[in-house]
Amino acid sequence: MEDVEASHGYIVCPNGYTPAAERRAQESVSIRLLPLDRLEDFEPSTWPRCLAPRCRNGRIFWDGYPALDLMLVSVDRPHSTPKRVTFVHYVGKCDRCGRFHVKCMACHEMFSPTYESDDDHRVTCRCQHPWFWLASIEEDDRGGKSAELRLIAGIDKIWTVDRRSC
Ligand SMILES: [Zn+2]
Ligand SMILES: [Zn+2]
Repeated sequence: MEDVEASHGYIVCPNGYTPAAERRAQESVSIRLLPLDRLEDFEPSTWPRCLAPRCRNGRIFWDGYPALDLMLVSVDRPHSTPKRVTFVHYVGKCDRCGRFHVKCMACHEMFSPTYESDDDHRVTCRCQHPWFWLASIEEDDRGGKSAELRLIAGIDKIWTVDRRSC
């Protein structure tokens, strides 16, 4: 990528990828791992614009697709068999300013959790699901700092779904 001054790189992964490879790609912002089944609808020109007010021409670089299942029971028929419904989200970063973005594929709302202060910045979409999103700065064992985007569905249900170095 440096040799040809490419701004973005895509690594197509027909056989999946390791957690370490995913982490390195997330930290680099502009390298994306692309599972083979995502190749068909891969179209960078349709990527949405960054929501940060002062970001110029940033585009959101989707790099993860976390999904959560809910068991839903009809209000009218409370004793009916619960139905499993999967809610998919797109998560990614702006290719200019690095800000995290989340898109809920149920309501198509896009939002941007920030980490500008220690205040509670939990973010949800209008679906009002029992989970929320939080961005924070984390420090690893070696003192390196990274920004992390977390999906939080309960005390023991916290997933880091995206990250970048800072
Ligand atoms: Zn931006
Ligand atoms: Zn939603």
